[in-house]
Amino acid sequence: MALERTFSIIKPDAVRRNLIGKIVTKFEEAGLTPIALKKIHMTRAQAEGFYAVHKERPFFGELVEQMIASPVVVQVLEGEGAILKNREVMGATNPANAAEGTIRKEFALSIGENSVHGSDAPETAAEEIKYFFSDEELVG
Ligand code: ADP
Ligand code: MG
Repeated sequence: MALERTFSIIKPDAVRRNLIGKIVTKFEEAGLTPIALKKIHMTRAQAEGFYAVHKERPFFGELVEQMIASPVVVQVLEGEGAILKNREVMGATNPANAAEGTIRKEFALSIGENSVHGSDAPETAAEEIKYFFSDEELVG
Protein backbone atom coordinates (compact mmCIF):
# COMPACT_ATOMS: atom_id res chain seq x y z
CA MET A 1 0.00 0.00 0.00
CA ALA A 2 1.15 3.50 -0.73
CA LEU A 3 0.90 6.71 1.24
CA GLU A 4 -1.97 8.61 -0.37
CA ARG A 5 -3.94 11.79 0.02
CA THR A 6 -7.67 12.06 -0.45
CA PHE A 7 -10.31 14.75 -0.19
CA SER A 8 -13.16 14.77 2.31
CA ILE A 9 -16.09 17.05 3.11
CA ILE A 10 -18.01 17.06 6.38
CA LYS A 11 -21.37 18.07 4.91
CA PRO A 12 -23.79 20.72 6.23
CA ASP A 13 -26.11 18.22 7.94
CA ALA A 14 -23.23 16.99 10.13
CA VAL A 15 -21.67 20.41 10.79
CA ARG A 16 -25.09 21.73 11.89
CA ARG A 17 -25.41 18.88 14.39
CA ASN A 18 -21.94 19.61 15.93
CA LEU A 19 -20.44 16.35 14.64
CA ILE A 20 -17.13 17.71 13.30
CA GLY A 21 -15.10 16.30 16.21
CA LYS A 22 -16.77 12.89 16.20
CA ILE A 23 -16.26 12.53 12.44
CA VAL A 24 -12.62 13.66 12.49
CA THR A 25 -12.03 11.15 15.31
CA LYS A 26 -13.35 8.32 13.10
CA PHE A 27 -10.79 9.25 10.45
CA GLU A 28 -7.92 9.58 12.94
CA GLU A 29 -8.75 6.24 14.57
CA ALA A 30 -8.59 4.62 11.12
CA GLY A 31 -5.07 5.98 10.58
CA LEU A 32 -6.09 8.90 8.38
CA THR A 33 -4.43 12.19 9.29
CA PRO A 34 -6.11 15.50 8.41
CA ILE A 35 -3.16 17.40 6.93
CA ALA A 36 -5.28 20.43 6.00
CA LEU A 37 -8.78 21.43 6.99
CA LYS A 38 -10.98 24.51 6.95
CA LYS A 39 -14.59 25.52 7.45
CA ILE A 40 -16.12 27.23 4.44
CA HIS A 41 -19.56 28.21 3.17
CA MET A 42 -19.64 26.99 -0.43
CA THR A 43 -21.04 29.23 -3.12
CA ARG A 44 -23.58 27.87 -5.59
CA ALA A 45 -20.96 28.05 -8.38
CA GLN A 46 -18.44 26.12 -6.27
CA ALA A 47 -20.97 23.40 -5.41
CA GLU A 48 -22.23 23.09 -9.00
CA GLY A 49 -18.65 22.84 -10.28
CA PHE A 50 -17.65 20.32 -7.64
CA TYR A 51 -20.59 18.03 -8.42
CA ALA A 52 -20.61 18.67 -12.20
CA VAL A 53 -20.27 14.92 -12.84
CA HIS A 54 -23.77 14.51 -11.37
CA LYS A 55 -25.44 17.41 -13.21
CA GLU A 56 -27.79 15.19 -15.26
CA ARG A 57 -28.92 13.19 -12.22
CA PRO A 58 -32.43 13.87 -10.83
CA PHE A 59 -31.04 14.72 -7.37
CA PHE A 60 -28.52 17.33 -8.61
CA GLY A 61 -30.59 20.40 -7.67
CA GLU A 62 -31.36 19.05 -4.20
CA LEU A 63 -27.70 18.07 -3.69
CA VAL A 64 -26.46 21.57 -4.54
CA GLU A 65 -29.09 23.18 -2.26
CA GLN A 66 -28.05 20.94 0.61
CA MET A 67 -24.34 21.65 0.11
CA ILE A 68 -24.77 25.44 0.14
CA ALA A 69 -27.40 25.62 2.91
CA SER A 70 -24.79 26.14 5.65
CA PRO A 71 -21.02 25.72 6.19
CA VAL A 72 -19.02 22.57 5.54
CA VAL A 73 -15.55 21.41 6.59
CA VAL A 74 -13.24 20.52 3.70
CA GLN A 75 -10.17 18.46 4.51
CA VAL A 76 -7.27 16.52 3.03
CA LEU A 77 -6.70 13.13 4.64
CA GLU A 78 -3.34 11.38 4.38
CA GLY A 79 -2.49 7.76 5.14
CA GLU A 80 -1.67 4.33 3.75
CA GLY A 81 -4.29 3.54 1.10
CA ALA A 82 -6.15 6.69 2.15
CA ILE A 83 -8.56 6.81 -0.82
CA LEU A 84 -10.09 3.38 -0.23
CA LYS A 85 -9.78 3.61 3.56
CA ASN A 86 -11.75 6.88 3.59
CA ARG A 87 -14.54 5.24 1.56
CA GLU A 88 -14.61 2.33 4.04
CA VAL A 89 -14.82 4.62 7.07
CA MET A 90 -17.59 6.66 5.34
CA GLY A 91 -19.81 3.66 4.56
CA ALA A 92 -22.28 3.21 1.69
CA THR A 93 -23.95 6.25 0.06
CA ASN A 94 -27.35 5.17 1.38
CA PRO A 95 -27.08 4.92 5.18
CA ALA A 96 -29.61 2.07 5.09
CA ASN A 97 -26.87 0.01 3.38
CA ALA A 98 -23.91 1.31 5.43
CA ALA A 99 -21.95 -1.13 7.61
CA GLU A 100 -21.92 -0.93 11.40
CA GLY A 101 -19.40 1.54 12.77
CA THR A 102 -19.21 3.64 9.62
CA ILE A 103 -19.80 7.40 9.66
CA ARG A 104 -22.89 7.19 7.47
CA LYS A 105 -24.39 4.34 9.54
CA GLU A 106 -23.97 6.35 12.73
CA PHE A 107 -24.68 9.88 11.56
CA ALA A 108 -26.32 10.14 8.12
CA LEU A 109 -29.92 11.37 7.96
CA SER A 110 -30.76 10.11 4.47
CA ILE A 111 -29.18 9.14 1.12
CA GLY A 112 -28.88 12.87 0.30
CA GLU A 113 -27.91 14.24 3.71
CA ASN A 114 -25.29 11.59 4.33
CA SER A 115 -22.81 13.60 6.41
CA VAL A 116 -19.61 13.14 4.36
CA HIS A 117 -18.15 13.27 0.88
CA GLY A 118 -15.03 11.32 -0.10
CA SER A 119 -13.05 11.06 -3.34
CA ASP A 120 -13.57 7.78 -5.19
CA ALA A 121 -10.26 7.35 -7.09
CA PRO A 122 -6.71 8.77 -7.35
CA GLU A 123 -7.66 11.12 -10.22
CA THR A 124 -10.70 12.59 -8.48
CA ALA A 125 -8.76 12.87 -5.20
CA ALA A 126 -6.07 14.99 -6.90
CA GLU A 127 -8.66 17.15 -8.70
CA GLU A 128 -10.83 17.67 -5.63
CA ILE A 129 -7.87 18.59 -3.38
CA LYS A 130 -6.84 21.22 -5.95
CA TYR A 131 -10.42 22.52 -6.18
CA PHE A 132 -10.36 23.65 -2.53
CA PHE A 133 -6.71 23.87 -1.40
CA SER A 134 -3.53 25.57 -2.60
CA ASP A 135 -0.20 23.73 -2.27
CA GLU A 136 0.80 26.08 0.57
CA GLU A 137 -2.18 24.93 2.63
CA LEU A 138 -1.10 21.28 2.56
CA VAL A 139 1.08 21.53 5.62
CA GLY A 140 1.42 17.81 6.35
P1 ADP B 1 -20.92 9.09 -2.78
O1 ADP B 1 -21.05 10.40 -2.01
O2 ADP B 1 -21.08 7.90 -1.88
O3 ADP B 1 -19.67 9.03 -3.63
P2 ADP B 1 -22.40 9.59 -5.27
O4 ADP B 1 -21.12 10.11 -5.82
O5 ADP B 1 -23.12 8.54 -6.04
O6 ADP B 1 -22.19 9.03 -3.77
O7 ADP B 1 -23.43 10.79 -5.06
C1 ADP B 1 -22.98 12.04 -4.58
C2 ADP B 1 -23.95 12.54 -3.53
O8 ADP B 1 -25.22 12.78 -4.13
C3 ADP B 1 -24.25 11.55 -2.40
O9 ADP B 1 -23.28 11.53 -1.37
C4 ADP B 1 -25.60 12.07 -1.91
O10 ADP B 1 -25.43 13.22 -1.08
C5 ADP B 1 -26.25 12.49 -3.22
N1 ADP B 1 -27.08 11.40 -3.76
C6 ADP B 1 -26.65 10.28 -4.40
N2 ADP B 1 -27.66 9.50 -4.77
C7 ADP B 1 -28.80 10.14 -4.35
C8 ADP B 1 -30.20 9.85 -4.44
N3 ADP B 1 -30.63 8.74 -5.03
N4 ADP B 1 -31.07 10.74 -3.90
C9 ADP B 1 -30.64 11.87 -3.32
N5 ADP B 1 -29.33 12.22 -3.20
C10 ADP B 1 -28.42 11.36 -3.72
MG1 MG C 1 -19.11 10.14 -5.26
